[in-house]
Amino acid sequence: MPHISRRAWVRGLPLGLLAGGLGGGLAPASALAQAAVSGTVSGTVAPAPAPAPALAPVSVTPLAQIRIGRFTVTALTDGYADMPYSYFPGRSAADVAQDAAAQSTARPGGVRFLFNQYLVEEGGRRILIDAGPAGSIGQTGALPQALGQLGLRREQIDAVIVTHLHQDHMGGLVVEGRNNYPGAELYVDRRDVAHWTDPAKRSGAPDYLRPSFDMAAELVRLYPRLQAIDGEREILRGLSIVDLTGHTPGHIGVRVEDGGQSLIMVSDMLFPVVHPGATDVCFLFEQDRAAAQAMRERFFPRAAAEGALIAATHMPFPGLGRIVADRGRMRWQVADWALQG
Ligand SMILES: [Zn+2]
Repeated sequence: MPHISRRAWVRGLPLGLLAGGLGGGLAPASALAQAAVSGTVSGTVAPAPAPAPALAPVSVTPLAQIRIGRFTVTALTDGYADMPYSYFPGRSAADVAQDAAAQSTARPGGVRFLFNQYLVEEGGRRILIDAGPAGSIGQTGALPQALGQLGLRREQIDAVIVTHLHQDHMGGLVVEGRNNYPGAELYVDRRDVAHWTDPAKRSGAPDYLRPSFDMAAELVRLYPRLQAIDGEREILRGLSIVDLTGHTPGHIGVRVEDGGQSLIMVSDMLFPVVHPGATDVCFLFEQDRAAAQAMRERFFPRAAAEGALIAATHMPFPGLGRIVADRGRMRWQVADWALQG
């Protein structure tokens, strides 16, 4: 397997995906601007930093922490990228831009996607859900810094659940061709392992998906402790895999449940601006759009009926909220996670 440079990953992406800027990761944040905000542990907020220059990288390391029974779940983020308005099949670019403006989130580069990861801790075990793009897309690469705010190094992560093998969810696992989480078992759905390591599928895929195929091959080579998992199963008591096939063949979510509380991390079931208001709008990287739409049509009403607390990778940090039915239309309601007892 040839070494895949960061630049090579980037070359495979459609023009515009770099709108958030790509400068080999983040410039070091100033000590003043460092702020860790936590809802359940003693958080500190730094004094207001000096005005940031235009196109400043992430200047704080946001952390959001909630308790789900005996689990502590911490939202972390690797950064963000702006996705052009033309990346949402099912809607015209003008329609998406108009929706973004109506939500006061319009940006010149398009729809801002966060790259949120979630650390689940219980009984001394640390399980990370996804690892971010790690500088391969947009303004990213902040996850190690975010773990550092918790006093953790990558080597201390016991397991990583990879919700699917797209580069923005697994890039941090294979930065610079290394096994970046040497202490971790990996859990990946078997259908995604099969799909993303199939040379025939790779040669038939559009250019912008090639980096994900190449990274998946690296992942399998670098992580002998990768477990290809089948369907819904419990990883440990109260932590289980949920089948959300559609976005990719083996796209999965993770349910955390204990003491009458629950959270479901749904990865790419929801994209900002367009979801959950519509199910007939997809994202460019979804190859099987009918399958993605069908899963959203099943999932959104079910999640709304349950009032499920959701964590979603690309929604505004910390990605915690609920899908609510509002006069016949679904909308995203941000969860009041902070300072809740
Ligand atoms: Zn994604």
